[in-house]
Amino acid sequence: MKELTHYIGGEHVKGTSGRFGDVFNPATGEVQARVPLASREELDRAVRIAAEAQPRWAAVNPQRRARVLMRFVDLLNRDMDKLAEALSREHGKTLPDAVGDIQRGLEVVEFCIGAPHLLKGEFTDGAGPGIDMYSMRQPLGVTAGITPFNFPAMIPMWMFAPAIACGNAFILKPSERDPSVPLMLAELIEEAGLPKGILQVVNGDKEAVDAILEHPVIQAVGFVGSTPIAAYIYERGAAHGKRVQAFGGAKNHMIIMPDADMDQAADALVGAGYGAAGERCMAISVAVPVGEETADRLIEKLVPRIEKLKVGPYTAGKDVDYGPVVTAAAKANILRLVESGIEQGAKLVVDGRNFTLQGYENGFFVGPHLFDHVTRDMEIYRKEIFGPVLSTVRAKSYEEALGLAMDHEYGNGTAIFTRDGDTARDFASRVNVGMVGINVPIPVPLAYHTFGGWKRSAFGDLNQHGPDSFRFYTRTKTVTARWPSGIKEGAAFNFRQME
Ligand code: NAD
Repeated sequence: MKELTHYIGGEHVKGTSGRFGDVFNPATGEVQARVPLASREELDRAVRIAAEAQPRWAAVNPQRRARVLMRFVDLLNRDMDKLAEALSREHGKTLPDAVGDIQRGLEVVEFCIGAPHLLKGEFTDGAGPGIDMYSMRQPLGVTAGITPFNFPAMIPMWMFAPAIACGNAFILKPSERDPSVPLMLAELIEEAGLPKGILQVVNGDKEAVDAILEHPVIQAVGFVGSTPIAAYIYERGAAHGKRVQAFGGAKNHMIIMPDADMDQAADALVGAGYGAAGERCMAISVAVPVGEETADRLIEKLVPRIEKLKVGPYTAGKDVDYGPVVTAAAKANILRLVESGIEQGAKLVVDGRNFTLQGYENGFFVGPHLFDHVTRDMEIYRKEIFGPVLSTVRAKSYEEALGLAMDHEYGNGTAIFTRDGDTARDFASRVNVGMVGINVPIPVPLAYHTFGGWKRSAFGDLNQHGPDSFRFYTRTKTVTARWPSGIKEGAAFNFRQME
């Protein structure tokens, strides 16, 4: 049995708490490694090392810090296949999807190479007589991030790239489900020239998380995961005086207007609903066709596409559309929610309950499901299922469809499919959701924009990556400077004696 490590002080270190978590191969159901779950003492050691290393890193000029990130981008590209394989092996997603996971993180690193520009402060020349006023953006010190299982490369890079570019030290507590890629990233960025102790990985569960939230030296905490934990992190972190950004779950609605190109909409829904087995916070989990006729046409187009989906292990190559879900518990939860949908009166149009894969009977595979006639009160509508289950809620009008997206407690992403610019514009302007797609099903903003949901999908006030990340990982100092009149007024040309 492979025993994973922490990455502390520039080296792999064994866990000393005596507690471990199982890391599965979701395709076979086998435990392939065990990950150490850190104690408070282990976390504290990482914090002490970070606090010691950080001032020297902060004193390195931003251009030189950016050069480390440049080399890191090269190394990510060099090792792309190796990283993708390690990612798929623990997460279960297909290899092209794993490459996408790494690539989207890499793009945030590329954005952070602009640190010298992004860290520039403001300056007012002559704010008063002989007075200048200027602001500086300074690093916070030791920062930390807690990340989910579903993007084990991208989300850690969303956090540590800007944190490090700004001159902070960063402690990453990755998901205990797929910790290998985060460990590889820490090693790789040191190969790129990052000093030891600036990026450390402390594996763990609630104990390590609570130690982060309560540690007096840690200044800021980033979190991405489910909403109940996001709310907990936000409250607990804030109660301990930390800056916190915490991103939570989602229930993303896609509205299909009668004038939409129905083939395009159906293709988009299948990709966005079932890609990565539905385990994306930007997955579309609710389709809202407007009008009965639109709904009938949409379902007719969706069913054959969904029935054709190929589910399998990443090792089966490019033919596979999506892989297993992450754990047996996740699979059981998804199937329980499917049963609740049936019991509460939704119509199961595509039934994936009996899906099995020869040779992989113990894997955590879930067949694709499509529900029609889902209503607001049902559990499958209210809860995030995080699996390959798409629910269709029929709306009578555009206003009703908009109201569904508006009234849901989550507000991460949403999309509208229409050929009418006026409707699309109205939707983008009025909907209370953080990221909106117009004929784009998964509107994940690129690295130089910011990523963040609204309502109970996010807690805190700054988004991930883009310019917001440089605000989150720095604090502003504003200087008011006045220089009393000096030599230019009282120039002395004689060889003066001491006065
Ligand atoms: P999760 O909330 O179970 O775990 C996230 C992290 O929190 C992990 O590192 C885990 O170890 C830690 N954690 C879990 N339980 C904890 C507890 N009781 N106390 C303290 N820490 C705890 O989430 P997950 O299952 O890994 O990820 C899936 C969730 O993440 C989904 O809800 C998904 O929508 C969400 N997500 C959101 C975004 C976004 O940007 N909004 C992006 C990706 C994923």
